Amino acid sequence: MMTAASSETSAPPRVLLAHHLRKLKLPTVLREYEKVAVEAAREGQDHVRYLLRLVELELIDRERRMVERRIRAARFPAVKSFDTFDFTAIPSLNKPLTLELARCEYVVARDNVIALGNSGTGKTHVALALGLAACQRGFSVLFTTAAALVHQLMEARDEKRLLRLQTQLASVKLLIVDELGYVPLSQIGAELLFEVFSQRHERGSTIVTSNLPFDEWTSVFGNQRLTGALLDRLTHRVSILEMNGESYRLRQSKGRRTKGPAPVDEPVVDPQTGKITPA
Ligand code: ADP
Ligand code: MG
Repeated sequence: MMTAASSETSAPPRVLLAHHLRKLKLPTVLREYEKVAVEAAREGQDHVRYLLRLVELELIDRERRMVERRIRAARFPAVKSFDTFDFTAIPSLNKPLTLELARCEYVVARDNVIALGNSGTGKTHVALALGLAACQRGFSVLFTTAAALVHQLMEARDEKRLLRLQTQLASVKLLIVDELGYVPLSQIGAELLFEVFSQRHERGSTIVTSNLPFDEWTSVFGNQRLTGALLDRLTHRVSILEMNGESYRLRQSKGRRTKGPAPVDEPVVDPQTGKITPA
């Protein structure tokens, strides 16, 4: 490794500059400084404007790299946004409230969001879009399903690293727990999940999606007292997104059927019988 002190006299300035910019983690300045210099000379800009332009480019790039890093860290199963969400397909969903949530003030306030509704109505899509919006606004996000989270917690418990995982889960600004209610939880699983919500209470935001109305949550947690305590914390400061309606997937496949044959790579779901014909 070259050091600043030893190399100054021997290495040519461009080599040194590249080395120092790398060390200072200014990759955009390194990549752009020649090109921007040519432009600055052409436009007769002084050294201050030249430097300002370079530094601005680095800032813009750095912000973009950080958003990308947060998106990777969030472990979204897919990247979805409100740009591709059709609000007219789900009239029960409060659009102004949803778009207001996309501004992420609830994350600052450490409030929660619960999306409730039957399968295929866009709950996961909305949760992903809210997660993406939070990443873009600089918040740390983690996306998981209830089943995967419980599995992870049990595994961590068996391997005596539960505390570390719990600390990690409590420190993220926005935790998204998708699909609560699809599988009933064991007693230990329910307790571990309860602890996660409990530890996050008023410390960070949690988004939960569920196909079950609140009065059926006891069937998932298998314990009325625990469910009551959990709902108490989760709904203390919460926005509820009502997402009951026709399944978007079924609608799509219906639409395709009237327009012509369905694409060959996707299974066809019969909207009347629910029968799935593989591609
Ligand atoms: P849920 O989680 O409620 O079961 P999903 O969010 O998984 O439903 O939606 C199923 C599929 O349909 C996904 O590919 C999703 O992107 C799409 N989808 C659902 N609702 C809409 C909508 N209103 N606009 C655009 N795409 C939608
Ligand atoms: Mg879903």
